[in-house]
Amino acid sequence: MIWIGDVLVSRGEGGVYNERMLGGARVWEPYRSKLAALYHVGKGVELEPSLRVLYLGAANGTTVSHVADYTEAVYAVEFAPRPMQDLIEVARRRKNVIPIMADATRPETYAPIVEAVDLIYQDVAQPGQAAIAIRNCLFLKPGGYLILMLKTRSVDVRKDPAIVFDETIAALKEAGFIVLESVWLTPYHQDHAAIICTKPAKPGE
Ligand code: SAM
Repeated sequence: MIWIGDVLVSRGEGGVYNERMLGGARVWEPYRSKLAALYHVGKGVELEPSLRVLYLGAANGTTVSHVADYTEAVYAVEFAPRPMQDLIEVARRRKNVIPIMADATRPETYAPIVEAVDLIYQDVAQPGQAAIAIRNCLFLKPGGYLILMLKTRSVDVRKDPAIVFDETIAALKEAGFIVLESVWLTPYHQDHAAIICTKPAKPGE
């Protein structure tokens, strides 16, 4: 990741959402982006130019634009029409962003478009977040990574966030993921956690 002092940045064309510029780079604010927050509180997954990413819950493409600055291609899935308009504008200015208007619970609808990816980043803030990630792991290369941003209150507002966190980790392990890191995003985002997993290569692959 690129840091200027303690400021996380990405190198790409600015002016996507009035982000600050520093030394010619785009400041990636941890209070505005959960992925930026992860790099402040934990290790995350190092973004590199060779990576292909499936991004679930792209919204208006602000975090997508930073991920695209670091990586080869970002397949950005979003189902709401309004943020999709902004996402399309981001894709117009970044040729490595492929916007896909689809429901992330139904990966079969975009399977013809999406190739095998090195990283799935999921930020859908919906119930059943683990199940959505598990369904989409059909796109993940063996040895690839999943970063799941868990909004515990979206899963069950009545449940203790720590229990939702533990249950989500258990579901991912049950599905065959190896959990590498799990961390709360405080003080940047309340009741949000990041879970980073890898999908092991099967013997013989
Ligand atoms: N990742 C964004 C960022 O950092 O800029 C913020 C994402 S916002 C918390 C969650 C987004 O997920 C919303 O735009 C919502 O419309 C989208 N979303 C929720 N459920 C979805 C689904 N099943 N399929 C596709 N998009 C979904």
